[in-house]
Amino acid sequence: MSNSGNNTVPDTEENRQICRKYCKICENYKRHSLGNYQPDELFCSCGTSSAPSVKEIGCFCPACELFSKHHLRGGYFCAVRH
Ligand code: SF4
Ligand code: SF4
Repeated sequence: MSNSGNNTVPDTEENRQICRKYCKICENYKRHSLGNYQPDELFCSCGTSSAPSVKEIGCFCPACELFSKHHLRGGYFCAVRH
C-alpha cells in the first residue's frame, strides 16, 4: 500500500466495477483514450494515467460512491496526483 488512512481506496474488482460507471464515460477518458494506457481505471487507487497531456475536463468522480465513502477530494485522479 502506498497510501494510509481512511482515504485509501482498495484496488478490488468490486471497486473497479464501480469506477467503470463513472471514469469510462467521462469526457476526459474518451478524449484522451485513457483505456489504452495503464492504469486504465480506478485512478484514485492506482494513480494517474500514463497517457500524455491528460487535461482536467468533466470529471465524474464527485458523483462516485467511492469518492464520498473514502472522503476523496478534488477528482481528476487520472491527471492529478493528490
Ligand atoms: S473516485 Fe473516480 S477514479 Fe475513484 S473509483 Fe470513483 S470514478 Fe473511479
Ligand atoms: S478520474 Fe475523473 S477525469 Fe479522470 S477518467 Fe475518472 S472521472 Fe474522468
